Amino acid sequence: MPPVKIDIPAIIIGAGPAGAGASFFLSKDKIKHIVLEKEVFPRDKVCGDACSGRTTSVINMANPAWLAEMRQNSQSFLPSWGMTVVAPNGKSIDIPYTARKEDQTEAKGFVAARIVLDNFLFEKMASPYCTVYQGAEVTGIERGQNGVVVRMTQGDKEYEISAPVLLGADGDKSIVRKQFLAAHTEAKTSAIGLRAYYDGVTGLHPENFIELHFLPDIPSGYLWVFPLPNGRANVGIGMLSATVREKKINLRELMLHAINNHPRFASRFANAKLLGKIQGWGIPIYSEPQPFSGDNFMLAGDSALMIDPFSGEGIGNALHSGMLAAGAIKQAIAQKDYSAAFFKKEYESLFFKHLGAELTANSRMQKIFKYHWVFNMVFSKAYKSQTLHKVISCMFTDADMQRQLGKPSFFLKVLLNR
Ligand SMILES: Cc1cc2nc3c(=O)[nH]c(=O)nc-3n(C[C@H](O)[C@H](O)[C@H](O)COP(=O)(O)OP(=O)(O)OC[C@H]3O[C@@H](n4cnc5c(N)ncnc54)[C@H](O)[C@@H]3O)c2cc1C
Repeated sequence: MPPVKIDIPAIIIGAGPAGAGASFFLSKDKIKHIVLEKEVFPRDKVCGDACSGRTTSVINMANPAWLAEMRQNSQSFLPSWGMTVVAPNGKSIDIPYTARKEDQTEAKGFVAARIVLDNFLFEKMASPYCTVYQGAEVTGIERGQNGVVVRMTQGDKEYEISAPVLLGADGDKSIVRKQFLAAHTEAKTSAIGLRAYYDGVTGLHPENFIELHFLPDIPSGYLWVFPLPNGRANVGIGMLSATVREKKINLRELMLHAINNHPRFASRFANAKLLGKIQGWGIPIYSEPQPFSGDNFMLAGDSALMIDPFSGEGIGNALHSGMLAAGAIKQAIAQKDYSAAFFKKEYESLFFKHLGAELTANSRMQKIFKYHWVFNMVFSKAYKSQTLHKVISCMFTDADMQRQLGKPSFFLKVLLNR
């Protein structure tokens, strides 16, 4: 049978947070689009499952009723008020997502298993403007007369879909990235993580703060304990891939050893039960500005290497970039311009305007805190200096504080007691 031929204003590959984010805003603007997804939802994604205010704010912009629905369902979406960061020397600082709790009646963040969150977002894509093909295998992407042609099979049916613009929202192993940005595609993802689900971990924060633990024997990474609904916890470890390779680290053993033996964890995990398997996945963290668009295409989320290098947050950035990509598609249609120069201006530049300062600051912070002695020194001094304590605890709510933490001169001043 010859392939079914379809012409459409936009194609999205991938129905994770980046693809869903783009789809919501295309539908809002009444722009017809096709979403191609290789899995069948509900599908799992290895992740820490924690979302800060960026995720809730994009969902709220897409449709406030969806956020209200999530907030009414704390059995699936556990409200979380912030993050606890613990330095290698054991000194910890609580970093709330909101500056003053009395200004906020609802928690800005939440933790939800990805199988639940992604399915929620997936279902919200349903709209007269969106056609989803699940279990779709993309067999080819090439340039065509009308922009881009994507060949796809679903079951025994073949399709040839043409559009002036393609959005790659297909995660860390993006085929769209490989096809169009091969020169900027690394063979290995920059960081790697393992995720485990546990029942019965004790000592979780009363306001469901997520915990990031930096430990002396975890170089260039951290162990996390994130509370989940129903008394469960998402526990994992993330590290730069180069370190794992160089030091021949077995991440699984390192994580289990820390949980079972380190004084910070042993008693908390004494009666905890591992649920299912420990699973791994690539974490494409942001390191420096790299292109993520070109003639007739853009990339969003993990395919564009947008994960926050310090906190590991990628869901909010994926949703946010999807939203911005949808805005760029709307502009492109209006101006009939799908050129690389247009998408660089209307998408990449806008993305950096929104998130660039934060990603740059956190990339610097990740590089500085790789030196555990700096980390220990800063956190030890923060115990004595209220000002320093405030700078760190305001890093999510105050952009100036965030920029300060990204400057090496800031750490030098701390070292010199200025
Ligand atoms: C161990 C670990 C812990 C993490 N912890 C956190 C955390 O706590 N908080 C946080 O915010 N972020 C976290 N992240 C990052 C977060 O998981 C990602 O940033 C986020 O999933 C990115 O969303 P995305 O839509 O870009 O990609 P994905 O969620 O990977 O979605 C991509 C979609 O594309 C589909 N797809 C892929 N290839 C194809 C293809 N060829 N054809 C069709 N469909 C395709 C996939 O099936 C998938 O549905 C973590 C990541 C890891 C690995």
